[in-house]
Amino acid sequence: GERAIDARRTDEDAAEATLRPQLLDEFVGQKASRENLSVFIQAARGRGEAMDHVLLHGPPGLGKTTLAQIVSRELGVGFRATSGPVIQRAGDLAAILTNLQPRDVLFIDEIHRLQPAIEEVLYPAMEDFQLDLIIGEGPAARSVRIDLSPFTLVAATTRAGLLATPLRDRFGIPLRLVFYTPEELRLIVSRGAEKLRFALTSDGAEEIARRSRGTPRVAGRLLRRVRDFATVGRTATGAVDRALADAALSRLEVDALGLDSMDRRYLRRIAEHHHGGPVGVETLAAALAEARDTLEDVVEPFLIQEGLVLRTSRGRVLAERGWRHLGMVPPARASA
Ligand code: ADP
Repeated sequence: GERAIDARRTDEDAAEATLRPQLLDEFVGQKASRENLSVFIQAARGRGEAMDHVLLHGPPGLGKTTLAQIVSRELGVGFRATSGPVIQRAGDLAAILTNLQPRDVLFIDEIHRLQPAIEEVLYPAMEDFQLDLIIGEGPAARSVRIDLSPFTLVAATTRAGLLATPLRDRFGIPLRLVFYTPEELRLIVSRGAEKLRFALTSDGAEEIARRSRGTPRVAGRLLRRVRDFATVGRTATGAVDRALADAALSRLEVDALGLDSMDRRYLRRIAEHHHGGPVGVETLAAALAEARDTLEDVVEPFLIQEGLVLRTSRGRVLAERGWRHLGMVPPARASA
C-alpha cells in the first residue's frame, strides 16, 4: 500500500519542487557535504573550469537531486538530468554527452543501476572528456573518438557499495549524506509551511520533524498531509499546533518515532517469528512481500540508525530498543 513516509520519489513530489532550496546557503543540514561543495564550487568558478565529478550517496529523500541542481546553479552552468535505468543503450548516453555545453552539470540518479556496457562508455568520458564509439557493423565497423565538452558528472546512489570500484574511483568528490537531526528538520518544516502559507506553530513543526525519519522528503509529505487534515480542525488561533499535528500523524499511523505499519511489521516479524534474529534479509523480504532492495534502501537504514535493528554477518537482529518500541520484552538469554 501507499506509505505516507516512504522516502522514495512519487508523482506527488512535483508539489515539493516549490519547497526545494535553490542555493547552498538555503540548504539546511549536511554541513560536511555543504562545506566541501562550497570549496570545490568556488575553486572551479575561480579557474573557469568544470568542477570535479561528485558522487552523492545516501538513502532516498535526503537531498541528492536538490544538491545536484544547486551545484549547477552555483556554478552558473546548465543542468541535465537522467537516471541509470533510463539509459538503455550506449547511444542514449552518447547523445546526452555530446549535447552538453562546456562545464555543464550532468546528473545521473540511481547510477548503480547503469548497465556495465554503458559504464564502459562513461569511463573515458569522465576521465578525458572523450567518447569512443563504434560506427557500423561487421568488417566495416570502425571506432571513432569524439571530443566532449568538459562537464561535471553528479551521480547519486542509495548504496555506494553497489558501484563497481573503477566507477567509484573516478569521482573526485565522494559525499555521504546522513539523516537530518530533528532540529534541522524543524527548520525545513517551518520554512516549508511558510512557503505553503500554512499557519503552523513551532511545536507543531517540531512534532512533524520528529516523526519524519530524518528525511526532508518525508517531512514535506507529512507537512502536506497535516495541512489537509487541519483544514477540518483549526485551533482557535487558526494555527496548527502540536496536538493537531499529532492527531493527523496518528491518523496516518505514523508513530512517535516516525515508524509506520510497514516498519512495525518488519520489527514484529523478527521478534515473533525469529525470536529476535538473526534472520536473513531475503527471508524477511519474502515474508513481508517486499522487494529486498526496498527493505535495504528504504526501510532498514533508519531502523538501523535509530538502533532498533542491527545488521550482522548472520542477518538482522532486533536490538533491545526495537523490542522496547514494540512494547515487548527480549527473551532471556539461555544461561550456561
Ligand atoms: P533525493 O534525490 O536524495 O532522493 P531530493 O533532492 O529529491 O532527494 O529531496 C527530496 C525533497 O526534500 C526535495 O523535494 C526537497 O524539497 C526536500 N529537501 C531535500 N533536502 C533538503 C534540505 N536540505 N532543505 C530543505 N529541503 C530539502
